[in-house]
Amino acid sequence: MFQHLQAYAGDPILSLVETFNRDPREHKVNLSIGIYFDDAGCLPLPEAVRAAQTQQPVQAQPYLPMEGHAAFRAAALRVLLGNEHLVLQQNRAVAVQTLGGSGALKLAADFLKRWYPQSRAFVSDPTWDNHRGILEGAGIEVGTYPYYDPDTIGVRFAELTQFLHTLDSGDIVLLHPCCHNPTGVDLSPEQWDEVLHIIQSRRLIALMDIAYQGFGDDFDRDAYAVRKAADMGLSFFVSSSYSKNMSLYSERVGILAAVCPNAEQAERVLGQLKFGVRRIYSSPPFHGADIAARVLNESSLHRQWQNEVYAMRDRIKRMRRQLHDALSQRLPQHDFRHYLTQRGMFGYTGLNEHQVQRLQDEFAVYLLKSGRLCMAGLNSRNIEYVARAIATVLQE
Ligand code: PMP
Repeated sequence: MFQHLQAYAGDPILSLVETFNRDPREHKVNLSIGIYFDDAGCLPLPEAVRAAQTQQPVQAQPYLPMEGHAAFRAAALRVLLGNEHLVLQQNRAVAVQTLGGSGALKLAADFLKRWYPQSRAFVSDPTWDNHRGILEGAGIEVGTYPYYDPDTIGVRFAELTQFLHTLDSGDIVLLHPCCHNPTGVDLSPEQWDEVLHIIQSRRLIALMDIAYQGFGDDFDRDAYAVRKAADMGLSFFVSSSYSKNMSLYSERVGILAAVCPNAEQAERVLGQLKFGVRRIYSSPPFHGADIAARVLNESSLHRQWQNEVYAMRDRIKRMRRQLHDALSQRLPQHDFRHYLTQRGMFGYTGLNEHQVQRLQDEFAVYLLKSGRLCMAGLNSRNIEYVARAIATVLQE
């Protein structure tokens, strides 16, 4: 019966993690997957999240409604838009609880395919691999827009804006508001203003994907693009994940938010998103969203959590600095400044596939083939070793 099935080649990131897990070398270092580890190399649970979890009584739960946990959805919208944003006061923003950021993207993709069947989607070149997978999986044609410039280790901004001008009205543009995955290279506020104005004037549909809020500058500044788009009166979507910043990876906690022209249309969008949920998995799980709701809605826990995320952010920045310094010391003729300027969990090292393979084969240091390095996998015990390994493959 299943003879005609093709074998699944495996997901490039998840397969690499499996290879890493099987690697018997004790000094191995996993810098491939986007997970935050602390300086001891452990997956930490923020104390605020732990406290919220211990408050949670264990009891039978009925199904949540299709749109999910009300207190979580409302609080998560405030994290995105700020507490007082006009679109919240005017009931023009709606949110559906989703299975992490991926679930939000899937729900958005299905919604967009249904209601904008002619629209193509454009993702940054490069982007998180699964963006293409999720959009194509919903039947949307996917192209790329110019983004990363390996020569300047910045954004090909002129090409990006020129390209956006060529798109058709209704085309979808997937944007990373902060901590671009995989490059760590973000737009400045001025660049966001320009991009959003083109999106508005050409009537493009912005689908923003924010999976690292708090890891760039802070929760407010990382949401600059989201709030600016709302200020400008744009209608757009945001997928938001709490996997990383609450360390709730396996609980699958996220939202899909939509900012709409008025409350009546917002209600209609919410209705169609609920319909979308019903057709895929009917209703989301309770446990993780309830923990997140407690953290976000209790002001002392909220503050504590934010500070814990900032401590993670600062540790990553320290790792960036130490890697930069260690590499610069070994190879003073090389420019490693991009390790300092890139933001969020990831850095684009500029290492080629051959060099990445050598890191894996000779040093048991695992990066993605693209040269993406997860800074949050570095710690005070492995950083010198990783620097030595990178310097070696760069030299030969
Ligand atoms: N978007 C981006 C840019 C991501 O990096 C990730 C996680 N790696 C996701 C979405 C998916 O988030 P989640 O793990 O919550 O599904």
